[in-house]
Amino acid sequence: MSTTPSQFKSGFNPVLAAQPRTIFDVMSTLARELGAVNLGQGFPDEDGAPDVRAAAARSLMEDSNQYPPSPGLIELRQAVADHYARFQALELDGPSEVVVTSGATEALAAAILGLIAPGDEVVMFQPLYDAYLPLVRMAGAVPRFVRLEPPHWRITPEALAQAFTPKTKLVLFNNPLNPSAVVFPEEDLRLLAEACVKHDVIAVCDEVWEHVVFDGRRHLPLMALPGMRERTVKIGSAGKIFSLTGWKVGWACAVPPIAQAIAKAHAFLTFTTSPNLQRAVAYGLGKDDAYFAPMRQGFARSRDRLEAGLKAEGFAVLPSQGTYFLLLDLKASGIDADDATFAERAVREAGVATIPVSAFYAEDAVTSVVRLCFSKKDSTIDAGIERLAHARKLFP
Ligand code: PMP
Repeated sequence: MSTTPSQFKSGFNPVLAAQPRTIFDVMSTLARELGAVNLGQGFPDEDGAPDVRAAAARSLMEDSNQYPPSPGLIELRQAVADHYARFQALELDGPSEVVVTSGATEALAAAILGLIAPGDEVVMFQPLYDAYLPLVRMAGAVPRFVRLEPPHWRITPEALAQAFTPKTKLVLFNNPLNPSAVVFPEEDLRLLAEACVKHDVIAVCDEVWEHVVFDGRRHLPLMALPGMRERTVKIGSAGKIFSLTGWKVGWACAVPPIAQAIAKAHAFLTFTTSPNLQRAVAYGLGKDDAYFAPMRQGFARSRDRLEAGLKAEGFAVLPSQGTYFLLLDLKASGIDADDATFAERAVREAGVATIPVSAFYAEDAVTSVVRLCFSKKDSTIDAGIERLAHARKLFP
């Protein structure tokens, strides 16, 4: 009989040992076990872009399947640069300013590990995407939080002033913002850019939702603001652009010295990313508005269906300007429960999985909203609405 090594009991990496199971995993597992309608985790019900998938399949059989260059195939790095020139008027040099990674998650990890030293401070906005804080802590950095609040989630000069210090090395920003579903107005981006320039800070800007914006909005990259070209890392993800979230092909764009530091970290994290998926994404990034406009319209239609259905049941929701998400405002809906309690009872007793937004705060959480994912079939959305109406009756 083997004995348990003592380190099993004392735990391994303390940063990860302190980390709870992610709420997405908890809710998706519960949804599967209980047969609940899953409006929790953010992925589309249907795979996107059939021609991009066909390009990957073709490449798998006809092209090399051996290690591509570590920073990415040149055709994809060039395609990323061309894509942003067309859609966001950015001038990037593909070979020296784009690093291909295994999803935006790896781009975030490589940027954080590549750019900060232990003890550096990192300004982060709450609500924050779940990978940010563990990555910052694993790098030995010190988080400084800016708290954003519903319904508008605006950035204020006062909040920035108290978060930035002489030790701030980096700011980690997400726009459009998951889970709040806001596209930050130019005014807020200007405030952030001014703070970065004033304090000589690098901004890592997670823009994975850049193409999923509604009602005629256009994404404005932080990198385009005055003084930001040299100090912004722009992160993107093919998963969100082509509704293929499992592909995990992402990239980081930055001026050469920053891109090289990120490429170095990437070389020791994954080294490279599947060549066939890289080729297919390079092909896909060449698409024009004939693809992007209907993609956005399709998601906007689903958002409207969920919103109208919820309003008909007496729920209050916050405006969704982008992403796959719509926030249900519990308090304004007359539900006297915090988000975690509502989400727990909704999945167990009403058969619908949601994500409590408090899970996106490390401290001082907002507890009055839950996140719903609408990138689903109409029948899933309709069933979700019906079950949420049932969940509401649990809180008379
Ligand atoms: N950042 C944000 C804000 C996201 O919402 C997601 C995906 N949900 C990611 C990063 C991860 O992207 P990828 O799957 O390309 O790693």
